[in-house]
Amino acid sequence: MTRLIATPGRTKEILETYGLRAKKGFGQNFLVDPVITDRVAELAHCEDSVIEIGPGIGSLTEALAMHSRHVTSYEVDSDLIPVLKDTLSPYDNVEILLQDFLECDLDAKVKELSKKYGSTAVCANLPYYITTPVLFRIFENASIPWITVMVQKEVGDRFAAKPGGSEYSALSVEGQYLYSIRKLFNVPGRSFNPSPAVDSVILQFERKDVQKSNEEIKQFFELTRACFKQRRKTIYNNLREYTGDGQKSLSILEQAGIPQGKRAQELSVEDLVKIHEAMK
Ligand code: SAM
Repeated sequence: MTRLIATPGRTKEILETYGLRAKKGFGQNFLVDPVITDRVAELAHCEDSVIEIGPGIGSLTEALAMHSRHVTSYEVDSDLIPVLKDTLSPYDNVEILLQDFLECDLDAKVKELSKKYGSTAVCANLPYYITTPVLFRIFENASIPWITVMVQKEVGDRFAAKPGGSEYSALSVEGQYLYSIRKLFNVPGRSFNPSPAVDSVILQFERKDVQKSNEEIKQFFELTRACFKQRRKTIYNNLREYTGDGQKSLSILEQAGIPQGKRAQELSVEDLVKIHEAMK
């Protein structure tokens, strides 16, 4: 019986056979722990269909193929396409697309998959150099109920941070405005080939029922970033800079019921939503 791609021995064999080396420029770290790939796929709510960003040599893709009716994987590195054709040949439910995920038509793909298979989840071991842009691209699609991703521990801490903590930032507010965010488990550096210097964490995002257009969400994110622009400054000072009007800023804060001397990192997502509502 063929060993799973994510076993350390099979990964080493595949890399040697194809003369491959992990490319830093593409953020390549291949998972070499089949227990982890299976656990992630099992927890990903991907029974119907799933989109993966960066299949690499197919370690997580294989686990997803075992748990989902259909897998679509976007890979930007053309050298990996023949490898994936070979390693994933036992699976007839995997579609590999040679494309930069940030340039794909995600909405059209999600529509197509949801029509054919039911719901569409996202599950990936994300390339660290574009973690945030990839996530924000996915956030724009409200029809993806579950996103389960491996990210660097620091990024995970920031997304999951609560008000008052040093990690709490605009990123935390934006993520938590749209999703319930949970840390599922940590993944040590030794579970990858090559081993990265930092540990990783599996984050899971469950979409909330936010009845706002992408335009409104964008405006809220813009306001949030302005409020966190200078962390040492009060909310009033950051807001005044953003609106260019001190009196208006005072009345917005008063209407929202937020004391002007507070700092953004002390405010909950709901507080920032109140400021946004008052601005309208
Ligand atoms: N999923 C594999 C695993 O877990 O072993 C590989 C994960 S590796 C951290 C990230 C993968 O994303 C690499 O295969 C890399 O080539 C790919 N990648 C990097 N940038 C990408 C992009 N813009 N679009 C699609 N894939 C990308």
